[in-house]
Amino acid sequence: MSRLEPRAGVLRMKEYHPPLGDRSGLRLDFNENTLACSPRVREALAAITGADLTRYPERGPIEAMVARHHGLHPDQVLLTNGVDEAIHVLCQTYLNPGDALLLPVPTYSMYEVYGSGAEARIDRVVAGHSFAFPLEELLAAITPQTRLIAIANPNSPTGQTVTREQILQVLTAAPHAAVLVDEAYFHFFGESVMDLVGQIPNLIVARTFSKAYGLAGLRLGMLAAAKEQMQWMRRVISPYSVNALALACLPPALEDQQYLDWYVGEVKAARLLMEAALDRLAVHRWPSAANFVLVRIGAQHRHFVQAMRDRDVLVRDRSSDPGCEGCVRITIGPREQTDAGILALEESLAEIGWKGKA
Ligand SMILES: *Cc1c(COP(=O)(O)O)cnc(C)c1O
Repeated sequence: MSRLEPRAGVLRMKEYHPPLGDRSGLRLDFNENTLACSPRVREALAAITGADLTRYPERGPIEAMVARHHGLHPDQVLLTNGVDEAIHVLCQTYLNPGDALLLPVPTYSMYEVYGSGAEARIDRVVAGHSFAFPLEELLAAITPQTRLIAIANPNSPTGQTVTREQILQVLTAAPHAAVLVDEAYFHFFGESVMDLVGQIPNLIVARTFSKAYGLAGLRLGMLAAAKEQMQWMRRVISPYSVNALALACLPPALEDQQYLDWYVGEVKAARLLMEAALDRLAVHRWPSAANFVLVRIGAQHRHFVQAMRDRDVLVRDRSSDPGCEGCVRITIGPREQTDAGILALEESLAEIGWKGKA
């Protein structure tokens, strides 16, 4: 008897279950906005009528508005159901079975999930102890099979950044590959290559509304690329993957620059507080340009994460990421939450008998 099996790529796919569990408590584990979105978004939600929900969502007009906001042409922008869908669309658009997806690691896990689903070979270039962007190794790893390169800038879980010059070198060295620059944490960093979209044919930029904007629950992301590439991605994506509630919330979220500036300012101030506390407690940390910081706790990482959880503070164990043995990632929210996080950190380190750098 023959039985039903999925495609080979699906068999090879890493099963990805976000360890969400019961997330009551202070959420310093998923790099979301830890507080709230703009109040104007709540007003837009409250104004939604029953009739509004009866219609299939129309993405075009909002895409045009998002394009204007970013200084782009409407045919250079694609709204997606979070950047995760954007990554899926890119893999489906560019990767044939056996093509290579090139990744500097450690990095965001969904690139590999969707890349292996497309039956691509995953070529990994491992960053050194500083987690600095491994430019030379990455350039050396580009082959004729390389069809997609994903660079998170700033990177997760490390918080490390890539310079514009380094990105340009990758773009130039791989004209036959789509180069995704994932700017999920752009607002906490401030540097971008969005201005190069349309000028460089193989550049694709992603932004999410899940982090600084505080809309992770709505699932909203965007891709920006030259029109010639965007036409292929539009063929792949579902026409209705961005729902009506998300589309209604996007204009007020973009318009409330004041709220965004306030939130980003809080995170930057709180990041300094967290870094100072980690230094005082002699915990090794990596410099971060994002709304989180990666620390090395060492062999006691599980005990530490549990001790934090016992104090109602959730942090993310990153120990199984390449080169991240004993590492834990801590999200930075506004100062008030960060103060609570630092208190739990002090108590938890005391509980595990912390004596300084692991
Ligand atoms: C959080 C994150 C995403 C996912 O964004 P969504 O829009 O919520 O799907 C993508 N890339 C990186 C690097 C992230 O950290």
